[in-house]
Amino acid sequence: MAVPRARISKQRRNLRRSSHWKLDVPGISKCPKCGAPVLSHRACKACGTYNGRVVIKTAEEK
Ligand SMILES: [Zn+2]
Repeated sequence: MAVPRARISKQRRNLRRSSHWKLDVPGISKCPKCGAPVLSHRACKACGTYNGRVVIKTAEEK
């Protein structure tokens, strides 16, 4: 791409830039226990479970 700026048409330049402007969506899945949307590889914030067991104490459990 080391080409004088004017040699690249607006269309080619915009096409090149258009492909990677979107942010990646973080991996979101459903908690198997309570069904709340959780980030993958993170403990569920609603019920505090990860991999089938309680890892963190939530406010309602105390
Ligand atoms: Zn949950």
